[in-house]
Amino acid sequence: MNCSHNLYIHVPFCMSKCNYCAFFSRACSNPDWQKYANDICDELNFWSEKLGKINIPTIFFGGGTPSLMPVEFFEQIMNCINERFNVLPDCEITLESNPGTIDKNKLIDFVSNGVNRLSVGVQSLKDEELVFLGRRHNVVQALNLLDSAKEINLRISADFIYGLPNHNVESVINLCNQINKLGLKHVSMYELTIEENTLFGKMNLKMPDNDTMAEMYNAIGEKLNLPRYEVSNYALENEHCKHNVSIWNGDAYVGIGHGGAGRVCLNGIWYEQKGNHELFEKMSDETRATEKILTGLRTMRGVKLTQDVKNMINFAWVNTHKDLVEIDGEYLHTTANGLLILDDLTLDLIK
Ligand code: SF4
Repeated sequence: MNCSHNLYIHVPFCMSKCNYCAFFSRACSNPDWQKYANDICDELNFWSEKLGKINIPTIFFGGGTPSLMPVEFFEQIMNCINERFNVLPDCEITLESNPGTIDKNKLIDFVSNGVNRLSVGVQSLKDEELVFLGRRHNVVQALNLLDSAKEINLRISADFIYGLPNHNVESVINLCNQINKLGLKHVSMYELTIEENTLFGKMNLKMPDNDTMAEMYNAIGEKLNLPRYEVSNYALENEHCKHNVSIWNGDAYVGIGHGGAGRVCLNGIWYEQKGNHELFEKMSDETRATEKILTGLRTMRGVKLTQDVKNMINFAWVNTHKDLVEIDGEYLHTTANGLLILDDLTLDLIK
């Protein structure tokens, strides 16, 4: 019997393309959903034949904009998953959503088909910033969606973007104070990064400098009334996203949908799943351990020091950089200073 795998299901469609977005998604408000759902079910069949009736601890519908999907097609996909796999009774089933694409009735229909966690792309609490970002919704629509989700007792996460060209520490503190008033239990705070091949990439925007970005990041850690548990994620202890935590810990997952990527464990051997579901490549123990370090160090708990991980760590460097990393029991984690230079730090830390 193969080990349990988390499922990530990609829904690549959006109402329109946001100005900063480099995700795999395309503007198409009325795609051929029947074809999409059939293709997803074909991929699920492929994996059920490969892996058998494995346990599924989490399912994450990410995008794109999964909340655009008519519920009948979501139901088809969930039926397919339930027939072919053993969806655990406490399986976390997250739906990413954008305000303006889903109302309370549609949300209730998603819930009756298994969704128990809603991630909402709020992004800003100022209408003019939402226009600047190229979002299709306004603040009232976002707050209404959060209220609807609260009324039906869904676990909720809200995404925000900071570090816009006009942002400074004060504006980010104001944002945190406003977020605190919303009573959320899980918040993701993403720094605006300018990617090539986006509208922002062509605009020559004057962004806050690195020092200001770092000050804003530290201010978020101080002012948000939720503890940081990963570089960009803040939540109460029992509200962490189980799906992401599992992947950061190095557990197995299968990516379904165009561009799906995953880490698959077949008969005890690990494979990297790339792009097409039929393409996967054996991973060496060193590559697996390196990945665990890269994702584990993004979490505040840190990376677990299992033997394979220890083999890849330069402990001489760790012992001389206690201002940047710390060993705490069986975990290695970054300090507050280390977190600010995470990418550089991992280059030195990994052998
Ligand atoms: S809604 Fe999300 S995935 Fe879609 S274009 Fe905007 S940022 Fe990209």
